[in-house]
Amino acid sequence: MFRIERHEVPIEIRALRTANVYEIFGRKRIMVDSGMSEASYRELATQGMEFGKIDTIFLTHLHIDHIGSAHRIQQEFGVKVAMHKDDIRRVEEIRESPEDFRDSLLDVMRLNGTPPAIIGEMVKHHSVLDHLDTYIRIEFDTSLEGGEEIAPGIRVIHNPGHSPGSSSLYIREESSIFTGDHILPGITPNISFYDDSTDMLGMYLNSLKETRSLRARTVYPGHREPFMNANARIDQIISHHENRMNEIAGIAQEWKTAYEIAESMKWSRDRTISSMNLLEMNFAIGEAISHLMHMEAEGRVERRLMGGKYQYRALSR
Ligand SMILES: [Zn+2]
Repeated sequence: MFRIERHEVPIEIRALRTANVYEIFGRKRIMVDSGMSEASYRELATQGMEFGKIDTIFLTHLHIDHIGSAHRIQQEFGVKVAMHKDDIRRVEEIRESPEDFRDSLLDVMRLNGTPPAIIGEMVKHHSVLDHLDTYIRIEFDTSLEGGEEIAPGIRVIHNPGHSPGSSSLYIREESSIFTGDHILPGITPNISFYDDSTDMLGMYLNSLKETRSLRARTVYPGHREPFMNANARIDQIISHHENRMNEIAGIAQEWKTAYEIAESMKWSRDRTISSMNLLEMNFAIGEAISHLMHMEAEGRVERRLMGGKYQYRALSR
């Protein structure tokens, strides 16, 4: 009853290169995510996407490589845009005061020991401010809660973690799920911080367990190729985070900031914090922070404030 088309579009993020846009043909036509920018839009047009026939653009989450051409398709073709309310709230915060939004994130970075020179660079080139135009122009016609049907037979599942409002579409009849960046093949979805108190990794691990209960057969991820058996991949991602926490506990034998811990962690392709570009550095420090926050919630590390910076130390278990 459902037919799926995948459109791979170029994005301007070095480590990912492309993002997936899907069309679900059922009783209504749903577009899942919309790429990053002009290049994504052109690629969709080249691939012959019939924008005017789309009923709703469902955005899995607010990140720029997933929402890029939504405003354009919306304005030119009158297509409705839907996203989870928690990510819509985040976009509203960006609109109200982009500088405050950026600074609140950088305050957490600073509190966690990121050196002033790096913070200075992050102030100048922040991805949210670089793409402000996109955030300002989208109008959200539908604010989702999770649990509702976006079209007959297609249910929205709220799976916070990668972002507060991250959501998937689940088609029970086909046992398939469109996950955005909640579950990806080959790369572990980036889990960062939201503020200096919310345990985003804890939220994410819970979301993974909930997704596991669906036992979805086919996963249509936001990047790379669709794949079979959601639960096998979910188990790998959970054990990746478990290993990461063990690695961090080994590093934090003495009081250290999250930044110092990130400097000692192993990163893919043998990168070190100092060899990363700003975006990668943002992700890496964010990962260290989210793991430490979760470990603190679980009683695996303790935290203290020293000279205006958080330091962490592993607790023996
Ligand atoms: Zn994302």
